[in-house]
Amino acid sequence: MERVNPATGEALDPIEADDEAAVEAALATADEAFESWRDVPLAEREELLASAADVLRENEAEYAELMTAEMGKPLAAARSEVQKCAWVCDYYAEHAGEHLQDERVGAEPGVDSFVAYEPLGPILAVMPWNFPFWQVFRFAAPHLTSGNVGLLKHASNVPGCAEAIEEVFREAGYPEGVFQTLLVGSDAVDGIVEDDRLKAVTLTGSEYAGRAVAETAGAELKKTVLELGGSDPFVVLDDADVAAAAATGARARTINSGQSCIAAKRFIVHEDVSDEFVEAFVAEMEALDVGDPHEDVDLGPQARADLMEDLHEQVERSVEAGATVELGGEPLDRDGFFYPPTVLTDVPRDAAVAEEEVFGPVAPIFEVADETEAIALANDTDLGLGGSVWTEDRERGTRLAREIESGAVFVNELTKSDPRLPFGGIGDSGYGRELGKMGIHEFVNRKTVWVQ
Ligand code: NAP
Repeated sequence: MERVNPATGEALDPIEADDEAAVEAALATADEAFESWRDVPLAEREELLASAADVLRENEAEYAELMTAEMGKPLAAARSEVQKCAWVCDYYAEHAGEHLQDERVGAEPGVDSFVAYEPLGPILAVMPWNFPFWQVFRFAAPHLTSGNVGLLKHASNVPGCAEAIEEVFREAGYPEGVFQTLLVGSDAVDGIVEDDRLKAVTLTGSEYAGRAVAETAGAELKKTVLELGGSDPFVVLDDADVAAAAATGARARTINSGQSCIAAKRFIVHEDVSDEFVEAFVAEMEALDVGDPHEDVDLGPQARADLMEDLHEQVERSVEAGATVELGGEPLDRDGFFYPPTVLTDVPRDAAVAEEEVFGPVAPIFEVADETEAIALANDTDLGLGGSVWTEDRERGTRLAREIESGAVFVNELTKSDPRLPFGGIGDSGYGRELGKMGIHEFVNRKTVWVQ
């Protein structure tokens, strides 16, 4: 599998892909491993997960370096990502037992009726490169602990991360076959989903990939969870703390060099505070350092050359349609795939940056006359992942949070994932939830038991 360092454009050592025989062997191993893993007491599975958290913390520097080399994440952010993975392991090591205990439902006197949560079997996780460790641990921590076994098909540009993650579970002491990495391209996914030994599939990635996997899984009647793209609104109302909104907004747009599903992607600003917001926001974006991800920078490169080209094309099409470039707007003239923080105003409502997901540090700002128009514009998308509302009035914020059509809304804060809270989208952003109690219940048989 070819790897390119996005900070330099230079090739890294390729990693040998798995052939069909290796995939077959992995499926057989997973199937066999499940038969004993499902019977391992939950407390032991929790202990192993706590050990995985330790392995992550011990090797934080090494894993962070891998992410930075393969997809260009600034090193400090990569280290935080490893810590967050340890956190999600700690969370489920502590709470899986309570989330999975039998739930008694008193149906009739004299009858013991309850819901038991039982694992399904081998589950395929098709994962993206943008948070190459976090996305995988967000899947693995709950679902291995509930007694399933995992097969990872990671994005093709981060095979080193994929191998290292398998190693985390091995080092933590998991039995063979409970978590395996398959180094295969996307063309191998259908065959794996169609295999009888595989029971379910989760995909985090683009809408295109989600539809493809859901189609195959649907034909097989296999359960899916889809975590797809977002075009999250960031709504700044007339009574907002504009300085705080501008500072957090810049972070919300540029986190992971702009390559986050829950990044703020459309800035919707009340006309009364629009000039003030644009000025403050441009200043915040301008102050961000872009450069070598091994240095102390805010943004590294975009992960691949083709992704940066697509991003720039979205900006060019929007400018042709009438948008004004307030900041940035051209790839940086240096080796690697660097795109600067970019701010666009006067953006037509049908411009590319308004209608398509923008996966890079480009912020379109839309001015609106009132709250009603703000909500209408926020909801004018088929995607529905997250959203952020800024107002000094918490009741107003809570009311508007209910009106935004998405899987999450944060008031006076950026949208973020948290092991304790469910995470997921509606509409073309996918379905199902990860994290929290709801997340661990996605891949279990919720079995009704009635004892007369
Ligand atoms: P992507 O191109 O869809 O790739 C994601 C994964 O799907 C990769 O492993 C990829 O394999 C695989 N894949 C692609 N096409 C496939 C197909 N036809 N059948 C089966 N598998 C296929 O997405 P990306 O560029 O890596 O990630 C960016 C997208 O992910 C954005 O839309 C972003 O918003 C979304 N995302 C969503 C969340 C969330 O939680 N909702 C989180 C992060 C990212 P190859 O690499 O081998 O092509």
